[in-house]
Amino acid sequence: MTNGVLPAPRVNIDLGKLRHNARLVSGWAGKAGLEVFAVTKGLRGDPQAARALLGGGVAGLADSRLSNLARLQGLREETLNGRGRPRFLLLRAPSPAEAAETLALSDAVLCASPETAESLARALPAGRPYEVLLTVDFGDLREGLLPEDVPEAALALDRRLAAVSAERDPSRRVHVAGLASNLACFCGVVPTVAHFVDLARLARETGEKLGRPLRVSAGNTAALPLLLRRELPPGLDDLRVGEGIILGRESLHREPLPGCHLDAVTFWATVIEIGRKPSAPSGELAEDAFGHRPVFVDRGHRLRALLAAGRQDIVPEGLKPLDEGIEVVGATSDHLVVDIEDYPGPLGAGAELGFSVNYACLLQAMTSPDVARVHVGEA
Ligand SMILES: *Cc1c(COP(=O)(O)O)cnc(C)c1O
Repeated sequence: MTNGVLPAPRVNIDLGKLRHNARLVSGWAGKAGLEVFAVTKGLRGDPQAARALLGGGVAGLADSRLSNLARLQGLREETLNGRGRPRFLLLRAPSPAEAAETLALSDAVLCASPETAESLARALPAGRPYEVLLTVDFGDLREGLLPEDVPEAALALDRRLAAVSAERDPSRRVHVAGLASNLACFCGVVPTVAHFVDLARLARETGEKLGRPLRVSAGNTAALPLLLRRELPPGLDDLRVGEGIILGRESLHREPLPGCHLDAVTFWATVIEIGRKPSAPSGELAEDAFGHRPVFVDRGHRLRALLAAGRQDIVPEGLKPLDEGIEVVGATSDHLVVDIEDYPGPLGAGAELGFSVNYACLLQAMTSPDVARVHVGEA
């Protein structure tokens, strides 16, 4: 609990803890010969947070949105402890119409659409390379080509891009630089050693067709358990890690990652009313404000606090109180109800309560215009 001098509701971003988590994850990856791209979409491309992540030793920054990458452009000239400039990766394929913006804001893109790759080749300014990482779908059924289609598609695309470049100016070069795969996002498919072996083999075969080695961008936070068990096969080049660094947990069972801070990012909201009320509602029950029929257990009268934040700002199921004796009961658009019966201290209107957040809740909080962002700790 704190007493509000800072804006609320807010997300507290602890820069030192973020840097620590980034350092641990990039250290584990480094031992396996892998680079880490820190994924900033959960932080809505927050530049101060991203600087802390770079300070933790990641090779670059990755985001799914051009709007977030635009916020990070001030960091492009940052030098990374003797390892040159950070690389910027766009994770969600842009539309062909976004080619010029994509080229301006990133060094590489994950993409499987030939039309888009071609529009990138046509829009590329002279004198700089740009990399397309072809996405491969191993069954999570979001983006990418099916594995069996990759070698032919990569060859056809690479020839097309070379033709476009030659037509214009051979020094302008957009090329198929590698393969990328992503699991555990849309369908929750668990990445296995076999997936990564297949990906590495596919990259080798495709590289032979193209006449040059291809880079392999292997996966996300869901690959960290395999990394920690030293089970990732050779032939992979990088991991793109968001949740693991920001929240300190792997994403399959949400187990804590060893040594990582679980509270690098926390959510804070202000108490606006306290009252002792029955824990079960009275009267006939129909749908709540969000079309659900919540079930309440009758625990007798309980002391409850009402906080000034709601579903516009958070996902209540994703909040975990930092203090003992506090339980989240639920939320409507603008009110968060918590049970404080077992909270040992005094609590009144104006007090603030803090919560750790899950990924869905973080995303909601970072994208709510009414939630402030406060940076604490040293980057
Ligand atoms: C969001 C995203 C990531 C990062 O996922 P985490 O589970 O947060 O590590 C990696 N790759 C792609 C393509 C993504 O969209």
